[in-house]
Amino acid sequence: MNEQVPAVADDAPEACRTPDAEERSLWRRVMDQVADHCRSRSLFVLHYCTGCGAVELPPTITSRFDMERVGVSPMVTPRQADLLLITGYLSVKTLKRVILSYEQMQSPKYVLGFGSCTINGGMYWNSYATVKRLDQYIPVDGFIAGCMPRPEAVQQVFLDLMARIDAGQANAWRDYYLDYNRYLGHQAALFGEDWHTPTDVVAEARHYGHFGPGTTGVHTARLETYTEWAMSKIPELLPERGANEKVRP
Ligand code: SF4
Repeated sequence: MNEQVPAVADDAPEACRTPDAEERSLWRRVMDQVADHCRSRSLFVLHYCTGCGAVELPPTITSRFDMERVGVSPMVTPRQADLLLITGYLSVKTLKRVILSYEQMQSPKYVLGFGSCTINGGMYWNSYATVKRLDQYIPVDGFIAGCMPRPEAVQQVFLDLMARIDAGQANAWRDYYLDYNRYLGHQAALFGEDWHTPTDVVAEARHYGHFGPGTTGVHTARLETYTEWAMSKIPELLPERGANEKVRP
């Protein structure tokens, strides 16, 4: 059973504190609604084209269906993208890159699974090399069912997601912070106990005010052990300074 954990650690830096009552004021909520409304009309999408469903994206983006007319544009880097689109089956190896990309995106961020393979493994459900359920490893805001889905279905799901963002209901990204220990446990079960990423998700959870009882646990405790071990190795890995090496002031 999870113990109740403090929302803010005693030694948390100022930038990682929980938003106070003033920040949750009526004014703040109104501004959040305005931001959600604007955000819902301007989505930058990182297409992670893993499977055969990617072939339906060119007609969705280009002149016939023209996603840009509803405010959806492609983006090439995760740091400037709002939406991660996973367009089909994921191999175990590819999922690692997807998680790294997802953690680089800034919150609030959204994920759509494209095709049956992201829902239950699809026709690859019995393969040793593919992932069965994407939503066990990162939060997913919606799925586009079908093998493969048509551009009309893709556009409809985009419009549904935009409506939910506008209404302040597309909040799956918060689950990654509130339930990080569970997501990390699923990732470690697939990749091995030494799995970790460079992102300090627990610190981010504090920063965004989404640190809850499920943020830490047995799996995140293992991360702390690894971090201590890695820090202890730094002196061995750094080359010794030469006697004549110039030191910058
Ligand atoms: S759902 Fe069908 S079309 Fe999409 S990646 Fe899987 S097998 Fe390919």
